[in-house]
Amino acid sequence: MKKIKCPQCSGPSLWDESNESRPFCSSRCKLIDLGAWASEEYNIPASPSVDDYDDQPSLDGGITGSPFTSTMH
Ligand SMILES: [Zn+2]
Repeated sequence: MKKIKCPQCSGPSLWDESNESRPFCSSRCKLIDLGAWASEEYNIPASPSVDDYDDQPSLDGGITGSPFTSTMH
């Protein structure tokens, strides 16, 4: 049987199909890790930067659909 180090508590974790929480040693460590990731996502101000990115394509579109296109018509 293979044993690895639990990424959460650094304790011994059993790498086996019987361990549904692998690579974590227990479901608790798995939940802690998932919770940590979830809270990190909450802390990152992702939405404002996404909005900023949303404005940039319109700038590109302004250049592509510039007066040149209208003059061609
Ligand atoms: Zn653990």
